[in-house]
Amino acid sequence: MLRQVLLSASRSDKVKSLVETAPVTRSLVHRFVAGERTFDAVRVTEHLAAQGLYASIDHLGEDTLDPARARATRDAYVTLLGRLDDAGLAGHAEVSVKLSAIGRYLPGDGEAIALDHARAICEAAKTCGTTVTLDMEDHATTDATLAALRELRADYPWVGAVLQAYLRRTEGDCRDLAGTGSRVRLCKGAYDEPASVAYTDRADVDRNYVRCLKVLMAGGGYPMVATHDPRIIELTGMLAARNRREPGTYEYQMLYGVRPGEQTRLAAQGERVRVYVPYGDQWYGYLMRRLAERPANMTFFLRSLAGR
Ligand code: FAD
Repeated sequence: MLRQVLLSASRSDKVKSLVETAPVTRSLVHRFVAGERTFDAVRVTEHLAAQGLYASIDHLGEDTLDPARARATRDAYVTLLGRLDDAGLAGHAEVSVKLSAIGRYLPGDGEAIALDHARAICEAAKTCGTTVTLDMEDHATTDATLAALRELRADYPWVGAVLQAYLRRTEGDCRDLAGTGSRVRLCKGAYDEPASVAYTDRADVDRNYVRCLKVLMAGGGYPMVATHDPRIIELTGMLAARNRREPGTYEYQMLYGVRPGEQTRLAAQGERVRVYVPYGDQWYGYLMRRLAERPANMTFFLRSLAGR
């Protein structure tokens, strides 16, 4: 219930201005967001690399209806990739991109504009020798995002996609994308989805995650296991052994600010661990999804709002 309220608030402009102007919000934002500037994203990547961790960097923003903002987001990614290269960090970091941040919802030919912007970002990634992963948004965009993936992979075969285990369709999508050369990030899913398309019971989502993970780990692609769930992390190790996969033929992924001790523990064991690092000033939707995931985060937030 609280999860649904928070997820619908994540798309409310009224709640957005309330939360953005609350003086206490900033410390909570800093727990999950690297900072507002390109410099902050590079600094955090450097810090992660020093701990043997990799990064996937997200320039925050989504659902834009402003062509100038979509272009600015594209340019921010291109600048970021150049800075990572200059700092010798391109081998440690890739970028994660939401198509809704680079124009998918612009009137007229939004999908085509987003695809063009995505191509520019892929070209910059190619120049510095790293990769791009397309984030997955709500279920209404899944088909279009997978279509964009197919288009991009024709020129940039290393472009990765995200699949969400809460969607009923995802086991089939995993089968389609489990082949050699594909990179798939499997997560549980962070949006408020109807029961007609998604499992709404957490145990059902977890069971579907396990089914999907088995498909990806048995396939020829590169699975990116995006979860903080200790049971799934343990199972991944067992599936790697069963499928004779060495560390580096798959990776774990976690969010910046969530279970950092587990991130370094796995890396110390020789596993490849990538941290999803968001930066920028458009943090509202991202923060609300993180609050929705964990009631303890929400309690902390409400206490701060009440000044306690
Ligand atoms: P859960 O069952 O939610 O959590 C398991 C345990 O992890 C919890 O008990 C808790 O200890 C810890 N935990 C989880 N979340 C938090 C938190 N916010 N704060 C503190 N502790 C926490 N979703 C999408 O829909 N599209 C995407 O493109 C996408 N990309 C992602 C990329 C990465 C690298 C990761 C890690 C997640 C991504 N997500 C995405 C979010 C994902 O779908 C889940 O909402 C989120 O990861 C929480 O699910 P979980 O697997 O950790 O399991």
